[in-house]
Amino acid sequence: MSLAGKVAAVTGASRGIGREIALRLAASGASVACIATTEASAGKVVAEIKAAGGQAAAFGCDVGDPGQVEQTFEAIAQSLGTIEILVNNAGIARDALMLRMKDGDWDKVLETNLKGAYLCSKAVLKGMMKARWGRIVNMTSIVGQGGAAGQANYAAAKAGLIGLTKALAKEVGSRGITCNAVAPGFIETDMTADLPEEMRQYVVQRAPLGRLGSPADVAEAVLFLASEGAGYITGQTLTVDGGLTL
Ligand code: NAP
Repeated sequence: MSLAGKVAAVTGASRGIGREIALRLAASGASVACIATTEASAGKVVAEIKAAGGQAAAFGCDVGDPGQVEQTFEAIAQSLGTIEILVNNAGIARDALMLRMKDGDWDKVLETNLKGAYLCSKAVLKGMMKARWGRIVNMTSIVGQGGAAGQANYAAAKAGLIGLTKALAKEVGSRGITCNAVAPGFIETDMTADLPEEMRQYVVQRAPLGRLGSPADVAEAVLFLASEGAGYITGQTLTVDGGLTL
């Protein structure tokens, strides 16, 4: 699938799933704004993209901070042009059982994982509406669909993203803009590096596909939803979990 001439922005592009999404969008021909907490961390994937002959630029931005998001998206529009594909992938986990959860950890997870998607989507909507074409893909999780003990903050944010996805899909569909979500299961990244061995074994045994997922497994789903061919799909959540939650 070709995304030649399209401008894409990926949040959380420095590592894990976001990095793989950025690499693949660029390999498909898109110019990619790679956003991470610092320009330096995003810069590494930009260097990889450029070395492979693609186009990209790095931006440091806390996606939960309205002022930084506004400034960053203005800078992206100036350097790369109107964003037509936005992947709201940046996310953090601050796990604790509810009774022990710190209010600050509740706020930080909601701010990054949910408010970040709201702020970044708002920043690209006018341009997409004018272009009468747009693709927004939100990175939720199977935890947003089914919950998980010790992750009330993360589950609430990820479930919120599914609601946001459906609401925005209804608001902007008439302008040729789709908004979908991808719900990964257990994917091998920094976020799951400390996953207890019993949990790994559970996933391997329980999932019909018999393994944890790779960032590439998730990136392929995002790429499809960002493509021209997915133009009649909106408001949906595509689960990428090897069948774990079947
Ligand atoms: P990861 O390896 O921990 O990477 C997280 C990314 O988010 C990094 O690029 C990080 O940038 C960026 N980030 C964190 N806070 C940010 C902020 N405030 N502003 C901007 N960028 C920020 O995570 P991952 O496993 O690839 O996960 C990516 C997404 O998939 C997340 O939304 C996560 O919840 C979701 N997900 C992951 C799994 C899984 O099993 N891994 C499963 C389901 C859903 P820096 O490098 O600058 O810190």
